[in-house]
Amino acid sequence: MRYYSTRNRNEPYGFASAVVRGLAPDGGLFVPEEIPHFRPSAAASLDKMTFQDIAYETIRPFVTDEIPDAVLTGIVESAFTFDAPLKPVGSRFMLELFHGPTAAFKDFGARFMARAFAYFRRNESRPLKILVATSGDTGGAVAGGFYQVEGISVTVLYPKGRVTPLQERQIAGLGGNIDAIAVEGSFDDCQRLVKTALGDTELNKQLSLSSANSINIARLVPQAVYYAAAAGALKSRRAAAPFVFCVPSGNLGNLTAGIYASKMGAPIDLFIAASNDNKTFPEYLAGENYTPRDSIATISNAMDVGAPSNFERLSSHWSADELRRMILGASINDDDTKAAIETVYRQYDYILDPHSAVGWQAVTRLCEKGVLKDGGGAYTVLSTAHPAKFAHVVEPLTGAVKPPPCLEEAMKKTAHSITIPAEYGAFKAVLR
Ligand SMILES: *Cc1c(COP(=O)(O)O)cnc(C)c1O
Repeated sequence: MRYYSTRNRNEPYGFASAVVRGLAPDGGLFVPEEIPHFRPSAAASLDKMTFQDIAYETIRPFVTDEIPDAVLTGIVESAFTFDAPLKPVGSRFMLELFHGPTAAFKDFGARFMARAFAYFRRNESRPLKILVATSGDTGGAVAGGFYQVEGISVTVLYPKGRVTPLQERQIAGLGGNIDAIAVEGSFDDCQRLVKTALGDTELNKQLSLSSANSINIARLVPQAVYYAAAAGALKSRRAAAPFVFCVPSGNLGNLTAGIYASKMGAPIDLFIAASNDNKTFPEYLAGENYTPRDSIATISNAMDVGAPSNFERLSSHWSADELRRMILGASINDDDTKAAIETVYRQYDYILDPHSAVGWQAVTRLCEKGVLKDGGGAYTVLSTAHPAKFAHVVEPLTGAVKPPPCLEEAMKKTAHSITIPAEYGAFKAVLR
């Protein structure tokens, strides 16, 4: 498979170089030249295969010639050591993507990317240092994904005092090949330090530096896997068509992966992009021009994105008309998100995290508007995080939320980080 920048169709890249570069030299995002199809035998048996077999079948065509089949099998087996169960809640389904080590769906992408990186670097003698700036959540998933992966170390920068105690422990409690730096400044300062280091020619002569940001193609492709597996699970339950997948969305990476899965041949009829008050994409789907803007803070903060980076990828594959046929949009404010958490808990004894609640409420909204018919199909909402990660929002509405073992473990850890001022000189001194 060849990859191109969204901004230049003339220069092809292989999967490995697209992964290691992250972003194309012209600032575009890497996209596959075409979306492959499942082998007919695989497409016909998504309802019977194991998650890992579906992972292998989904990812294989994206990496042919660059990851041998036996290596891919090993990567998939060590990356996806947890399940993505489909739970009926009322007449709908929740696709629980929070059973990985950091209790959020980003584990799927981060763990695959880490192993792909390690494989592509196998013949390099110099260890690779991955730099990540985080406002909280991504840092934990990337740190967890790369933890104990050979030949790679990770340095996570986070704004001191501005992440939750749990997030700080997920970032700075692992140790080993994961270093944490608390920056006396904002997330933007962290991002600036990382960008400056990546562009510092002198430093790059001494160290092999890379980044692991959310637009990496190696984070996107593995996310297509759980859509194919869930569509297979709906088939094996003989759920009523249409199969509608509602995706709580921020940067639109998860949604893009879902569309890849459906184009590959997973039986999915329609997508819903559910946003919080950051409604750039729902407004576009409703017919307005695409107008990126500053983000607004909400209780579903992993979706506080006013300029979704994967929009460029989506629109390089599909026209506005095509996107509007495939995806319905809805935007849900904080009050309605909280009301959904409360209602679903009362009616079904099921606890949603704020991001998943935005998804649930988007389905409700579209049913109220008459766009969808409640119970008129298999409506599947992606549950992107465990509610215990957002206990400060959820517990006042539902009472105590029992944390999963991985979060209990994380809370027992001690955070070890170095504090630096938000100055490049200080950061460079630490890196050396
Ligand atoms: C990252 C994240 C999202 C948004 O996913 P995108 O791929 O950026 O659209 C939703 N929910 C949670 C919990 C997240 O961490």
